[in-house]
Amino acid sequence: MLSSTGLIVNTPAWAQSPAGVDRAGGPQWWKGNLHTHTFWSDGDDFPEMVVQWYKDHGYHFLSLTDHNRLSQGQRWMPVTDKQQAAFEKYLARFTDRWIETRKNEKGQTEVRLKPLSELRCLFEQPEQFLLIQGEEISEKAHLNAINLLDLIEPQDGPTMPELLQNDVNAVLKQQEKTGQPMLVQINHPNFQWALTAEDMAGVKGARFFEVYNAHGSVNNDGDKLRAGTERMWDIILATRLSGPSPEILYGVATDDAHNYHKFEPSAANPGQAWIVVRSEQLTPESLIRAMNAGDFYCSTGVTLKDIAFRDRTLTVQVAPEPGVTYKIQFLGARRGYDPTSREVVNAEGKTVRTTHNYSPEIGAVLAEDQGTTASYTLQGDELYVRAKVLSSRRNEKSHVADEYEAAWVQPVVGR
Ligand SMILES: [Zn+2]
Ligand SMILES: [Zn+2]
Repeated sequence: MLSSTGLIVNTPAWAQSPAGVDRAGGPQWWKGNLHTHTFWSDGDDFPEMVVQWYKDHGYHFLSLTDHNRLSQGQRWMPVTDKQQAAFEKYLARFTDRWIETRKNEKGQTEVRLKPLSELRCLFEQPEQFLLIQGEEISEKAHLNAINLLDLIEPQDGPTMPELLQNDVNAVLKQQEKTGQPMLVQINHPNFQWALTAEDMAGVKGARFFEVYNAHGSVNNDGDKLRAGTERMWDIILATRLSGPSPEILYGVATDDAHNYHKFEPSAANPGQAWIVVRSEQLTPESLIRAMNAGDFYCSTGVTLKDIAFRDRTLTVQVAPEPGVTYKIQFLGARRGYDPTSREVVNAEGKTVRTTHNYSPEIGAVLAEDQGTTASYTLQGDELYVRAKVLSSRRNEKSHVADEYEAAWVQPVVGR
């Protein structure tokens, strides 16, 4: 190996990187999903089948995030009629040396659900595939804790903002206590219309939320009265970044997969929405560090070649596909925007508990370009700027009619 002075240096064997790790090219893009369910809670397949699906489909990392549960310890699942088809597929895919079954007192077959530690032995490969421990803390609000060590019980609170803060604090407290980097994301705010932009805006340490969740009942787009998640994102960014303690909010896209047998738009299938993170290594630490720096994007089908923010210029480059055209938008809010808001009132004149109405100066389209590369140079009065790439290709996997594939680039902050 050549040192910086050109001398030959011998690297001791213990300091040499395993094959493939010592790359010259710097950071890489890694594709992953941080929201998935299995038989450990209400998903409809065995964890191995789920992990195998993601590994076979080009993903580099995956978090199994079952409801209020870690995939740990001894757990035997009875095979009822409901699980029979999945069980048969499982038997056909894995050997009986791997699969563990027994009969319970009723003579029913039970299968041992493999814990994460055993899944890791089967699937993980350095620089190729990584499993990160996760949990969906689920009660009145749902939040994913990623790379946690111990189970976190859903917290309560007298109001929704306080409840959210208590859930976030529980993750941050464990992170502080253990020294292990963790990530907490607020999930599908419009599921059962649970969360508003105002609920989330003041929550300290909540730096991630699902701008797109592919599950069929989460109302990403809102409805006639209620704001969609992307509108919430802009409202929260403008509110936070113009306030006394500015904190960023990054958007995450996830599958929230539950259904692995029938692939159709109405099902919560894998492979619909993901994130791509640019980090040095495929490790939880490296990925979380990059995500905290906003070095990732969300996608429902669009692949990006590069994102750069240099000399106050945000540049987005698409990796184009034949026959597909792209529109790149830069959205943001400027200092001095109108911050006033109005409650939403329905046709009967009743106030609806939902995100308020705000000025179109929030989330305004600052520039837009057709093509595969576009740049925006900040003028200096922007609170934030984020980019969105819209594809001309319809998203056939989505349950929403007339949805087109897209990518969301994380906001950069002015100043
Ligand atoms: Zn959920
Ligand atoms: Zn979920």
